[in-house]
Amino acid sequence: MLRSRLLRAAFAFVLVCLFAGAVVPAAWPAPKVRRVSIIITGGVVVTVDADRRILSPGAIAIDGRTIVAVDRPEVIAASFRAAETLNASGMVVMPGLINTHTHAPMVMYRGLADDLALMDWLQKYIFPAEAKTVSPEFVRTGARLAALEMIGSGTTTYADMYYFEEEIARITRNAGLRGVLGETIISFPSPDAKTPSEGLARNEAFIKEFAHDELITPAVAPHSMYTLDREWLQSSRRLADRYEAPLLIHVAETQDEVETSRERHHMAPFAYLDSIGFLGPRVVAAHAVWVGDDEIPALVRSDVGISHNPESNMKLASGTAPIPKFLSAGLAVGLGTDGAASNNDLDMFEAMRQAAFLHKLQTGDPTVVGAPAAVEMATIGGARVLGLGKLIGSLEPGKRADVILVSMRGARQTPMYNPVSHLVYISKGPDVRTTIVNGRVLMRDRRVLTLDEPAVLAEARKMAERVRAAVR
Ligand SMILES: [Zn+2]
Repeated sequence: MLRSRLLRAAFAFVLVCLFAGAVVPAAWPAPKVRRVSIIITGGVVVTVDADRRILSPGAIAIDGRTIVAVDRPEVIAASFRAAETLNASGMVVMPGLINTHTHAPMVMYRGLADDLALMDWLQKYIFPAEAKTVSPEFVRTGARLAALEMIGSGTTTYADMYYFEEEIARITRNAGLRGVLGETIISFPSPDAKTPSEGLARNEAFIKEFAHDELITPAVAPHSMYTLDREWLQSSRRLADRYEAPLLIHVAETQDEVETSRERHHMAPFAYLDSIGFLGPRVVAAHAVWVGDDEIPALVRSDVGISHNPESNMKLASGTAPIPKFLSAGLAVGLGTDGAASNNDLDMFEAMRQAAFLHKLQTGDPTVVGAPAAVEMATIGGARVLGLGKLIGSLEPGKRADVILVSMRGARQTPMYNPVSHLVYISKGPDVRTTIVNGRVLMRDRRVLTLDEPAVLAEARKMAERVRAAVR
């Protein structure tokens, strides 16, 4: 009787302690539960970390802007409590996609002039249309439309070179996207600068304005070696060195460019850029299609990052970049869509698939640029190209929380034996359900939270009337 009373008393004491949240040493050690902002749980987590871990199922804990843990769901559940939990069952959770080359506002020219060679397309349509239509208002409208498309298709970081880049940067920051953005410097009068010298001054002001921005990395963006003289290319390099900024440039895109370079300088484009001291760290070379085997060691030595744009290169019949050779040489290679006028969208899933297909066809070898290589180029490879490899490009503790949830629930994705294969060979931009950048949810279950979608589309349709009138 006494014993049972004692037991009851002990039991009651324990209950009181538990309800009061008191600590009962030894027998009931308090679980160390950390409060975080977001937990994503239940999906197949494709980390793209150094071991290329895939957790099926897996979970991620995000606190503020940072990923704090990537593990099995039960481990995350035992260690963290979140303000918001996202159920990712039936989805793949992966690093946000990184578009290493585009001209965001050119979404306003998509479908305006197709089926032309690069120089015809540029000189007869794009440059004249730009001269008549590009303004701060045009750029804002186009950048909002592009941001809407990128968030909706899982792009979380993009590299951009255009005009009035400060407008693009503000839209990018407000939309919550990460951007490596540069003012275009070009030799002829452009919509925002009459001379390359003015372009450079604008570029420097832009760098100063966004130097310490959380989301924007300001870059220097000389258009190309065929639209700029040596002194402007060298000034661009010096400006980039002064601020340790990335240098975005088109290089060796077409055979025409190589011929021009050989006529003017008796050298191929990369060799010329090397000879004038332009090549070096932080160069993001878009296209790099016409590159000889003998030029690759110089690119490795200079640590040049390559932005591969398979769709633009195919559409303009520019040629096929030697990507398998770049990859085996150890160069950083990322993917880009290029401007939507030569693509005609900003869907990085399509860029992955076309990259995988193009090199198989070109080399006659179906084993080159496999699905893992395509995913790596669109994530960690792109991050390395843009100098952001320590911050983004993979899902691992300490990195910024740039994460997307991709649905695998539909008929098209069923069955799923290999998530990486599905990401490259089956998935499309609109399969992305949720997009998170820097720990902020930009799109939840297909609803974009940072832009007013109907207003952005209406504004773009209105602006398109001006574009149509200008090219008539
Ligand atoms: Zn381009």
